[in-house]
Amino acid sequence: ARRLEAFELYRFYHSGEDETVALRGVSLRLQAEEFVALIGPSGSGKSTLLACLAGLDEPDGGYVEVMGVRMSRRPDAVRAALRARHLGILMQSGNLFEHLTVEANMRLQMSLAGLSDRRRVDHLLEVMGLTRQRRAHPPQLSGGEAARAGLAVALSANPRVLLADEPTAEVDAMTEATILTHLRERCRAGGAILIATHSTALAAHADRLLCIRDGRITHD
Ligand code: ADP
Ligand code: ADP
Repeated sequence: ARRLEAFELYRFYHSGEDETVALRGVSLRLQAEEFVALIGPSGSGKSTLLACLAGLDEPDGGYVEVMGVRMSRRPDAVRAALRARHLGILMQSGNLFEHLTVEANMRLQMSLAGLSDRRRVDHLLEVMGLTRQRRAHPPQLSGGEAARAGLAVALSANPRVLLADEPTAEVDAMTEATILTHLRERCRAGGAILIATHSTALAAHADRLLCIRDGRITHD
């Protein structure tokens, strides 16, 4: 089952005379139950690609389909609805509102997708080892706790596709193992996962590696 597809994505950045081509014709397809790692050197286009796939950035050429529905160049409200309904997103800028508790951040994400499920919140908090931090605000969390809270929020609406940029950058090896096990279970339950990472441990657990270099997929 197709979850997410990109067709010939291009993204250009202009500053004065200079033009940077961040994406040069990237096409990919994520199927249900796939756990894919996106790896590439710094500046190769990973964050730009994830932002385009998430509908947070618009490609200059090509388009993205989520669950078979085109998302690119649709009105903001359409993109936001597709995102809330189908995608879990964890970018490096974070996905937590600082004035809301961890638990309230999760509930907000669920309500945007039209869901409300107390047990799911409890379960995710437990899996992520955040039961004691449920009423904490993001600025009170350690780096590792914040990373796990971001993932708990991204997963709270049971998304069809999880898009995450370096989700374990600040966590220790034990926590990374816990997170991996949980992501693996989610995959088996029909979700697809795309993670941009520098962690070879994380990449080694993926079913599929996508290598990006200079805005092109060089290996799949
Ligand atoms: P990565 O995530 O792999 O480090 P990025 O997607 O952040 O790569 O960047 C890809 C290229 O696009 C780089 O050359 C980067 O300098 C450039 N770039 C990214 N964002 C911007 C921006 N907002 N303005 C100008 N150039 C950008
Ligand atoms: P198709 O794309 O072929 O219509 P579905 O989207 O209906 O397939 O999903 C196939 C199976 O995966 C179903 O059993 C569905 O319940 C399950 N599934 C799909 N997405 C998720 C998800 N995000 N979390 C858990 N289970 C899911």
